Amino acid sequence: MTALTLYDTLSRRKRPFEPIDPERVTLYVCGPTVYNYAHIGNARPAVVFDVLARALRHIYGADKVIYARNITDVDDKIIASSRETGEPIEAITTRYAEIYRQDMGSVGVAMPDIEPHATQHIPQMVAMAAKLIEDGFAYEAEGHVLFSVNSFDGYGKLSRRSLDDMIAGARVEVAPYKKDPADFVLWKPAADDEPGWESPWGRGRPGWHLECSAMTAEHLGETFDIHGGGVDLVFPHHENEIAQSVCAHGGKAMANYWIHNGFLTMGTDKMSKSLGNVQLVHDLVKEHPGEVLRYALLTAHYRAPLTWTSDLLAKTRRSLDRIYGVLRRLADVEAADVTAPQEFLDQLFDDLNTPKALSVLFQIASRANKAETEEERARAKGELLAAGALLGLGQGDPDAWFGLTDIDPAEREQIDGLIAARNQARADKDWARADAVRDELNALNVQVDDGPEGSTWRKQE
Ligand code: AMP
Ligand code: ZN
Repeated sequence: MTALTLYDTLSRRKRPFEPIDPERVTLYVCGPTVYNYAHIGNARPAVVFDVLARALRHIYGADKVIYARNITDVDDKIIASSRETGEPIEAITTRYAEIYRQDMGSVGVAMPDIEPHATQHIPQMVAMAAKLIEDGFAYEAEGHVLFSVNSFDGYGKLSRRSLDDMIAGARVEVAPYKKDPADFVLWKPAADDEPGWESPWGRGRPGWHLECSAMTAEHLGETFDIHGGGVDLVFPHHENEIAQSVCAHGGKAMANYWIHNGFLTMGTDKMSKSLGNVQLVHDLVKEHPGEVLRYALLTAHYRAPLTWTSDLLAKTRRSLDRIYGVLRRLADVEAADVTAPQEFLDQLFDDLNTPKALSVLFQIASRANKAETEEERARAKGELLAAGALLGLGQGDPDAWFGLTDIDPAEREQIDGLIAARNQARADKDWARADAVRDELNALNVQVDDGPEGSTWRKQE
């Protein structure tokens, strides 16, 4: 069996993945701050880590993997949104958390096993901050609790920044109560009209970094296997998570593998709300099948940038037409109960090389299409479905993909007859007849495309 290798940001190399306990493989990904719609760039980590979770479940067993993705439901931006709209915070966070689940579901992302909410772990956060103060890693100042970066030798290791760089990069105006400009907040005071919890340092709320350190320790343990997120989280978020967790847990590593996805870009710019160039998943799924968006997100290696264009979506749709075209041609074949072929796993398990895995998926599709015996067809179809399942692609009903499920059976029969007649005409090289039949199909609102695996057709809305 091929071993999974993963590129670890902390050690800056690709390493064979070895879980602490193969009976309980643990994965944590920083989830959304719930106050607005997710854009397609935000969907990239959700899809990438969904594929990683599928790979881990394939190797260790579905029930041996614990995937946690949190919900940040206390944050300055949420408070600002509530002030602006007058809507209570809880109403905002509940609604957008649900929208996030739905939007990610529409691009084929399975729910994580655990979805911890920050506001449900305040006592654990208070306890962690108190322990860090007690052990000399943090200090209280004016109702704030700050982590003292000088107290931790390992600070800057993940992002490979020196403290001098960080100070130079810190905002010009440094809060006067900080001992070092790079010290960061574990706890801060809450104004009367802000959400807050009682603590030894007065009524306040946690810093964002502390949330993840407390929730991972609670659900996955002091040291867990894999921690993921977008590359923008390396500094300061993950650097600070490491500082808090390592210092609160007697020097133990927080996670053994740190995995980061690259940006989705529009031209040369990162897609981001602040640049105003976002395309929301919520809107995109009105124009495109969610599976097209998912496939498009997997066309680049997860660590590479991915340029988002309408051309990419058009190309992706044609690729899925080919896969579903083959599956439709094999609709009557019972798929063999097989796993994904080795050459596919070799690519996927090589640091999730999805572009190469997709190209192997096409080789399987084309083998399935050319298969001559019933046995070969059954095997190839089984392999195509099994490989597709690891990517979360090609699992739908081929008829539904081509818009053929809601049509009247008599019309369906008529279409099938015309398609067969056209295929025969093409086989006979009777192009005039083939074109005439195509016109008849077009008159029925059926669009026909001739591709390398033969023709596909779809009913236009
Ligand atoms: P944010 O809402 O900015 O905290 O982002 C939520 C998640 O999406 C984080 O893991 C970010 O790293 C990731 N993310 C945000 N923008 C992009 C982008 N343009 N491309 C890829 N990942 C992104
Ligand atoms: Zn986090």
